Amino acid sequence: MQTNTQVILANRPVGEATPDCFSVETEELAPLADGQVRVAVDYISVDAGTRTMLRGEGFHMQVEMGQTILAGGVGRIIESAADGWEVGQAVRGGLGAQTVATVPTELLEKIDTSIAPASAYLGVLGASTGITAWIGIRCVAKPNAGDVFVVSAAAGAVGSIAGQIAKRDGATVIGIVGGAKKTAYLTEKLGFDAAIDYKNENVTERLRELAPNGVNVFFDNVGGPVLDAVLDHIAMHGKVVICGAISQYDDMDNVTGPSMYLRLAERQATMEGYAYFHFPDHIGPAMAELAGWVADGSIIADEEVLEGIDRYPEALQFMFNGGNIGKLLVKAS
Ligand code: NAP
Repeated sequence: MQTNTQVILANRPVGEATPDCFSVETEELAPLADGQVRVAVDYISVDAGTRTMLRGEGFHMQVEMGQTILAGGVGRIIESAADGWEVGQAVRGGLGAQTVATVPTELLEKIDTSIAPASAYLGVLGASTGITAWIGIRCVAKPNAGDVFVVSAAAGAVGSIAGQIAKRDGATVIGIVGGAKKTAYLTEKLGFDAAIDYKNENVTERLRELAPNGVNVFFDNVGGPVLDAVLDHIAMHGKVVICGAISQYDDMDNVTGPSMYLRLAERQATMEGYAYFHFPDHIGPAMAELAGWVADGSIIADEEVLEGIDRYPEALQFMFNGGNIGKLLVKAS
């Protein structure tokens, strides 16, 4: 009998999502129903937004108690009861945090692993990673050549790609990250113009030094005090793009608003939020351009991999403590 090992929600987190919120359980699998396929999951995507799915209510889809954690994944079909979906086909979809997913094909998309390795379809070519970054830059932030562009969580999955696209588009790019290892990563490996360590430096003071005329575009992934510090130094006609706010996700009942928002009025600046799925027509072009950069090696898309489904329970804590550089994945088996 074939089995599946899955990560389920055992306790709703209060504050940080710690490993005891999850339980790893193995079940025997029933025979496939018509139209279903069975997928051996290779990689599971770990996303900041997953924390907001564990509350029981909110903007994102929610995980019920005892339910498999919702997550994007990539894998290979190992059994099929669906026409046109052959064993061996590589696929991507909402596979969940588990080793073997039994799913209807409507949830799946075929992927071409001759273009990029399967894991890249969750990272630089993934909807909630590279495509989110591309849409955020090209459809919302739209930095001009010569602009000072600042991005937070800049060494993470979305931020590292967003900063590289802004750099390609001619902006001067400053990344905000936690710790010296990450500031070095931004300037020495990703080619950012400068980096600020928000854990050990005064962000407002550093911005004054690095960008005396202010920040033209801020691409924010973290919210909280970092958002305030950059708002304080936004340029005339500047733009703040709210991609996310990870600093708020552990306590969404008490979100801290930006106390510096009056800088928007003083500097005739704007603030605009978005989700990648608000721009469905741009997902194809985003994918095509990102795949071109992957093929010619002109984009750096690092991945941080935790090996084994048993490590999923620590994954969110690892991310929320700033452990990852690049896209965080769990290798399921
Ligand atoms: P990620 O950037 O790979 O990882 C999150 C990073 O956030 C951590 O590595 C950590 O880096 C930083 N961080 C954690 N807690 C923080 C805090 N309290 N204050 C400041 N920084 C903190 O994660 P991701 O999955 O790519 O998500 C990045 C952002 O994009 C999230 O806000 C997410 O919700 C958003 N997102 C938006 C969309 C959309 O459609 N709008 C889609 C996908 C994701 P440091 O070491 O630098 O602190």
